[in-house]
Amino acid sequence: MPSRAHVACGSCRLCCSAFPVPLIPEHDDVLSYERTLEMRDDKQVAFLKKKEDGACVYLGEGGCTIWERAPFACRYFDCRTYYHLGRSGLRPTNNDANILKRGKELLENDRGRSVVHR
Ligand code: SF4
Ligand code: SF4
Repeated sequence: MPSRAHVACGSCRLCCSAFPVPLIPEHDDVLSYERTLEMRDDKQVAFLKKKEDGACVYLGEGGCTIWERAPFACRYFDCRTYYHLGRSGLRPTNNDANILKRGKELLENDRGRSVVHR
């Protein structure tokens, strides 16, 4: 199974609607997933397709339907790190307030406890 960040997401699915998810060949992402192609810095980049409401097409009732082979960007996203980057000003754009809040909550919960797998 591919490696991933360990985040205690529980029933949270915020980041499945917040960001475009790139498919990165260098990280062995499955390139045949439903996708859209966009130009970024003169290069064509594939992103997971989104539903009309902005959620990823692979987000189901019970969460991610492709979690075992989710793209690298999903497997390694950690809202606690996002919170730290947001606070330090290293991520000046695209700060999602709900995800920053969630990252802060998790950091507070983590204090003095071990982090569990999602
Ligand atoms: S915002 Fe954080 S807790 Fe919520 S799904 Fe994303 S990584 Fe998990
Ligand atoms: S692939 Fe899965 S984890 Fe990634 S955005 Fe879609 S539903 Fe969420």
